[in-house]
Amino acid sequence: MRILVISDIHANLTAFESVLKDAKGQWEYVWCLGDVVGYGPDPNECVEQLRSMPHLCLAGNHDWAALGRLDIRTFNPDARKAVNWTRETLTAENTAYLEDLPTTFVIGDYTLAHGSPREPVWEYILEPLIAALNFPHFETPYCLVGHTHQPVIYEQVNDKGDTEAIMPAYRQQRHLNGRRQIINPGSVGQPRDQNPDAAYAILDVETNTWEHRRIAYDIPAVQKRMRTFDMPERLITRLEHGW
Ligand code: ZN
Repeated sequence: MRILVISDIHANLTAFESVLKDAKGQWEYVWCLGDVVGYGPDPNECVEQLRSMPHLCLAGNHDWAALGRLDIRTFNPDARKAVNWTRETLTAENTAYLEDLPTTFVIGDYTLAHGSPREPVWEYILEPLIAALNFPHFETPYCLVGHTHQPVIYEQVNDKGDTEAIMPAYRQQRHLNGRRQIINPGSVGQPRDQNPDAAYAILDVETNTWEHRRIAYDIPAVQKRMRTFDMPERLITRLEHGW
């Protein structure tokens, strides 16, 4: 079975639709690693698109923020404004959907979490050392995470637990070789690796083959919608820069 692996859609329907168009006919099931909402202008549309497909989805920190589960006083003012807007905009049905999302999921050879296996909602795995500290916290060979909005593979290269970061080779299939790995598909709706294109991956769970992908989408159309909702300018401009 082939899996469409997505994360951090962040209420960006235009990016989400571009990913679905690009991957059309190439997957049977969706794994979504959380943060379906927050930041972008289309929270209901993104939740409903996801719900219309065969999928499983994890809870991210922004999903929890939209549910009022977090104290958002520590968020910066732009993020706080976006959270409040999202909370007011989500329908009762879509809020109920987000309420039920689990924080981790183990399926076959894969453990899924939004942030990390040891701190599923919160921790950012931004470097090999943090990845290395997380390997003891899951039992499967592979773990998939999102949250940083940066596509990468962390691989344990020896029995001592030394871990290396491998940058994605887009549109190239990588056979997961049995060495333990923590893999991030990147963000659909708000990439932060200086590349504004939507990021996602295709995973074949029978052959353990992983493929990182990027696809351009109509960023000005999303920015225009964000301006009609009077969303913070910093959140609007960052989309075109990929940070
Ligand atoms: Zn996110």
